[in-house]
Amino acid sequence: MWIRAEVLRLTNVRASQMRKAGVPGPEGSIGKMASADLNKDIYEFVVDMMGLDGQLYGSYEMIRPEIAMGFDSFQKAFLRARANSIEGGTTEVMKNILGERVLGLPGDVRVDREVPWSQVPRN
Ligand SMILES: Cc1cc2nc3c(=O)[nH]c(=O)nc-3n(C[C@H](O)[C@H](O)[C@H](O)COP(=O)(O)OP(=O)(O)OC[C@H]3O[C@@H](n4cnc5c(N)ncnc54)[C@H](O)[C@@H]3O)c2cc1C
Repeated sequence: MWIRAEVLRLTNVRASQMRKAGVPGPEGSIGKMASADLNKDIYEFVVDMMGLDGQLYGSYEMIRPEIAMGFDSFQKAFLRARANSIEGGTTEVMKNILGERVLGLPGDVRVDREVPWSQVPRN
């Protein structure tokens, strides 16, 4: 996990320098996808290390955090990390972007490609 975190940090540094040079690349999508998985794995490891304590939630009382995204326990941070691969673009969508736009792989079959949004079937 340390190696993954370090590779991610260096990728983010590279992405930042490319952006400053005016040539943003796919590193943003890579970083979003990799950080979501890494964050989930880190907190899973943390609650595993806590043993049975890792299953305790503390209190369900609503407490306003002192800082944005601040957590008063590892257990809460673990639960919040589950959202990382959904929010801001799911990991599956990130993989599609990287596969199709970066690697140039053939796209998914999209039967609704030419269909106006108002006519796309929904459940
Ligand atoms: C904790 C949390 C905080 C959020 N905060 C914000 C916020 O501050 N601002 C904001 O605007 N939004 C926010 N969101 C919304 C978030 O951006 C969306 O939930 C997210 O983009 C996924 O969209 P969706 O829920 O409509 O899922 P859908 O797009 O309906 O996806 C459902 C499932 O289908 C899969 N899927 C969808 N399309 C494809 C595809 N083309 N290829 C392969 N698989 C696909 C997805 O991976 C997923 O598993 C937040 C969501 C969460 C969970």
